[in-house]
Amino acid sequence: MGTVWFVGAGPGDPDLLTVKGRRLIESAGAILYAGSLVDQAATLYASEGCAVRDSKDMTLEEISAWLIAHAAHGDVVRLQTGDPGLYGALVEMGRALDAAGVEWSVVPGVSSAMASAAAACETLTLPEVTQTVILTRVAGRTPMPPGEDLEALASHHCTLCIYLSITLLHEVQRALRAAGWAEDAPIVVVQKASWPGEEKIVRGTLADIKRRCQDEKIGSQAMIIASPAIGARHWETVARSKLYDPEFSHRFRRAKKDAA
Ligand code: SAH
Repeated sequence: MGTVWFVGAGPGDPDLLTVKGRRLIESAGAILYAGSLVDQAATLYASEGCAVRDSKDMTLEEISAWLIAHAAHGDVVRLQTGDPGLYGALVEMGRALDAAGVEWSVVPGVSSAMASAAAACETLTLPEVTQTVILTRVAGRTPMPPGEDLEALASHHCTLCIYLSITLLHEVQRALRAAGWAEDAPIVVVQKASWPGEEKIVRGTLADIKRRCQDEKIGSQAMIIASPAIGARHWETVARSKLYDPEFSHRFRRAKKDAA
């Protein structure tokens, strides 16, 4: 009996797989991957004779049955976009494996929020500006639990990484306005972050981001980042991080007495 490994494939670029994830793909007897976003990693690194299947036309029951059947012969990889713990139905599949007595483990992946910030050379936290990141979505066919509507979350005025919502940009705009965000608040949208030759970065404001995304024909596979830290690279000044401040001691470095 093998183990089922839920492996985070990262945002698309196969180079953003973890070393552990890649090793597991190379040695797996069977790989079930989640749609076109991750097929490259699966097909690039799978060994000869490995059963490789796309799950895009399968139900949860069919997916679980496939994983259980192949685990009888050895290790299986369930390859998911980004990190498996974010909007990945991890626990639904895991519970089916538990019920069948199949061992499972999780290998984290680079989530698209991190990949999108990296693509745009943006920081998600900045001293004295925001020290909090909320990973969320707006309600689509999946409703939001009480207290988690975007308007309530946006009232913190921290960084918001909004998944699964690019077709609902009007709703994002409404919620941010209702929470008091300014019309010129910066927003960046990244489509297909890390995909060589296909990544698109659209910068705008609360007022114009929807129009800019329409102009660029961005209607899927995109991350919306709304944050008071966006664009800080080009500000005249930013508050210094304590970590590298010469006057600040920490575990690994003593403050310099005469620091300028
Ligand atoms: N587990 C994934 C998220 C799956 S939900 C993760 O951790 O990233 C699918 C949503 O993720 C998409 O609607 C989009 O908002 C975002 N997404 C996935 N891949 C992306 C990419 N390469 N670039 C931008 N957004 C992406």
